Amino acid sequence: MARINANYLKLKAGYLFPEISRRVSAFAKAHPERQIIRLGIGDVTKPLVPAVLDAFHQGVDDLASSDRFHGYGPEQGYDWLIQTIIDKAYKPLGVELDVSEMFISDGSKCDSANILDIFALDNVVAIGDPVYPVYNDTNVMIGRTGACDARGYYEGIVYMPCTEENGFLPAFPEQKVDIIYLCFPNNPTGAVATREQLKGWVDYALANDAVIFFDAAYEAFITEPGIPHSIYEIEGAKRCAIELRSFSKTAGFTGVRCGLTVVPQELKASDGQGGQVALNALWNRRQSTKFNGVSYPVQRAAAAVYSATGWAQVQQVIDFYMENARIIREGLQAAGIRCYGGVNAPYIWLKTPAGLSSWDFFDRLLDQCSVVGTPGSGFGPSGEGYFRLSAFGERANVEQAVERIRNGWGQ
Ligand SMILES: *Cc1c(COP(=O)(O)O)cnc(C)c1O
Repeated sequence: MARINANYLKLKAGYLFPEISRRVSAFAKAHPERQIIRLGIGDVTKPLVPAVLDAFHQGVDDLASSDRFHGYGPEQGYDWLIQTIIDKAYKPLGVELDVSEMFISDGSKCDSANILDIFALDNVVAIGDPVYPVYNDTNVMIGRTGACDARGYYEGIVYMPCTEENGFLPAFPEQKVDIIYLCFPNNPTGAVATREQLKGWVDYALANDAVIFFDAAYEAFITEPGIPHSIYEIEGAKRCAIELRSFSKTAGFTGVRCGLTVVPQELKASDGQGGQVALNALWNRRQSTKFNGVSYPVQRAAAAVYSATGWAQVQQVIDFYMENARIIREGLQAAGIRCYGGVNAPYIWLKTPAGLSSWDFFDRLLDQCSVVGTPGSGFGPSGEGYFRLSAFGERANVEQAVERIRNGWGQ
């Protein structure tokens, strides 16, 4: 009989979002008169902007014409898209990249999982806690961990707690690690790293021969000047960091699918026999064999994000979400709830009042205000006692939710 990859059996069953749906459905059934507002999702709500749609349509029309038809494209993405991203998104930051250093993909979730392919299993991996669950679970799937303990920690992974006490910026691991996941602006905490803090991580990685996976999926939501948008703004980062970006949150591509990974030519890792190998060549080999590129119309749509009109339109949508974030943040503060994030990220991370557990707060918020959010404990053990609200949503709903929390909370 064929055998399964038994690492999958170590995974805890997907619990968070099914459990949220279960509780919301039960509540809706018991209280059909209540209008429920959902601020729990990590998905955008606004449609694609017109400039992106035009390019998308044009891309489809090209496929209908015999002289503009496109079949298989380069596995790494079309040069015109890569060059546009380099010129428009990296050069203004003072970051020079070569076309060969950027790989267009179907999204950052996939890339953050696939990148593990080119690293040995015995690397020690450090991840934040709480964290985007994909980092943890993909390491379990590939076989880098033992079992999960009662708290929810897998044997073999180094967890870096991110709490109020450390300002949601993890301390450097005490033991030697080889791979470090960093996500700034952070999902779920909304925290960002300053230039000095990021420099600390780059210096740490260089001193310890570690590789940083830098997830910048939310960089477009940074509003404060001086906060780095790319880890390559830090000197030396090209020798220690892989950066992931996505069009998902930036431009509403969650259903369209497009992202990118930067693997600098200078970045090397050990071959285990005293030599060093360029990770760029390995990733290129991996993508060429296991991936066949992002569809042509999608890449045309992605390029339009960086046209003058496209970017102005995309920025307007981001500003809209960030105004939602401000309304939520200030409303919670006015209700006496301590909260973080929401300034450089579309997530507000709040400390549950009165020492409530994340799930108890979920139930109270649903019961008293008919508002749905995400329990912090679902993102990792150190998320216990916290709660995430998302700024993706319609303005009227956001305002209503905040008003209900201000009037209803604690009654
Ligand atoms: C949404 C999100 C992504 C983007 O994933 P895609 O696969 O590009 O849609 C990546 N990282 C984090 C932390 C996210 O929240």
